[in-house]
Amino acid sequence: MLIYLDNAASAPVRKCALEAAMPFFTECYGNPSSEHSQGRRAKLAIIKAREQCAEAIGAKPSEIIFTSGGTESDNLAVKSAARIGAGSGKRHIVTTAIEHPAVLNSCKALCKEGFRLTILPVSSDGFVSVSDVEKALRPDTALVSVMAANNEIGTVQPTAQIGGLCASRGIPFHTDAVQAAGNIELDVNRMNIDLLSVSAHKLGGLKGTGFLYCADRLALPPLIDGGGQENGMRSGTENPAGIAALGSAMEEVCRDIRGRAMKTAAMRDELISLLLQIPDSRLNGGGERLCGCVNISFRGIEGESLVLNLDMRGICASSASACAGGSTLPSHVLTALGTDEEYIKGSLRLTLSDNNTVEEIRTAAEIIKDVVGKLRYLRGSLA
Ligand code: PLP
Repeated sequence: MLIYLDNAASAPVRKCALEAAMPFFTECYGNPSSEHSQGRRAKLAIIKAREQCAEAIGAKPSEIIFTSGGTESDNLAVKSAARIGAGSGKRHIVTTAIEHPAVLNSCKALCKEGFRLTILPVSSDGFVSVSDVEKALRPDTALVSVMAANNEIGTVQPTAQIGGLCASRGIPFHTDAVQAAGNIELDVNRMNIDLLSVSAHKLGGLKGTGFLYCADRLALPPLIDGGGQENGMRSGTENPAGIAALGSAMEEVCRDIRGRAMKTAAMRDELISLLLQIPDSRLNGGGERLCGCVNISFRGIEGESLVLNLDMRGICASSASACAGGSTLPSHVLTALGTDEEYIKGSLRLTLSDNNTVEEIRTAAEIIKDVVGKLRYLRGSLA
């Protein structure tokens, strides 16, 4: 038995994505820049994927830059937009305390180049306030970067309002939509988004592929120089298999977001209510959360031991964001919420998809209850 509840770390590859990728592993190995039939076929697949990704977020194909994933898209957005600002003396960036390290560390790297950073706090529920963003804006603000949805607690941020605010001040707005894409509807024009990051492996594509949407109006300088692929924005031979898979997965997940979200949210809510019956448990993050995200803490146990024990019982879960796995530092997201240290230590992230079933959710809840009880008993008897 395997119950996979770690979809926010990486989702299963969709059948349509695998089918779109397969020819580029087997019969079509040409370089998309080559002029022969193999190269032309690879290039056509990239053109199609660019259209599919653009369509899914209401953008133009010319506004999609394929990258190696969410981390690269975030780096490109934050560093390049900041450097445009620096050209006109703007060296201030606004972001939040709960961003993914790909954004936070890109901002921190810019501080070494003389940029100033405002890191906004979030409420105890995990939301940034639009009025805090407004108060932080300065005449020299070069960029605002606020994630669309958080990867640890799933809170959906007021992206459209922040986008509107930034647009009214003429400040470029970036959103990390790595967890939001395919789970909530995104429209870059309606939401006034200038830059938006997506990663393929979170939505059923392959690892090592993603894209950055960059509004045509921004003349972003590239981070990677070379042969001029991706319209000069991202040099390096393209990855036709990964890009074709991303286009196909993006099209499929965005086709019926509401239907999939309703099914997943019903399972999420049942899981939350079952887990909150365990004594000394509490839910992290409140309000509007991603349809598949549950972050819950159990007092008196270590999240790492819980995850390892669940793995032995056939359940894949995370104790903090997978990208921070292996690090013993407490979650910066739960810390930003003001969560008690004991509850931070005992946190568990379970992320569902519409591939899960109600039976799996009920079985997982039973097993978690049992494991939490055993770990607490063990801790008590060792004390
Ligand atoms: N941003 C968010 C919100 C994420 O959850 C992740 C990965 O967990 C990333 C960025 C990085 O994406 P990638 O794994 O494609 O580099």
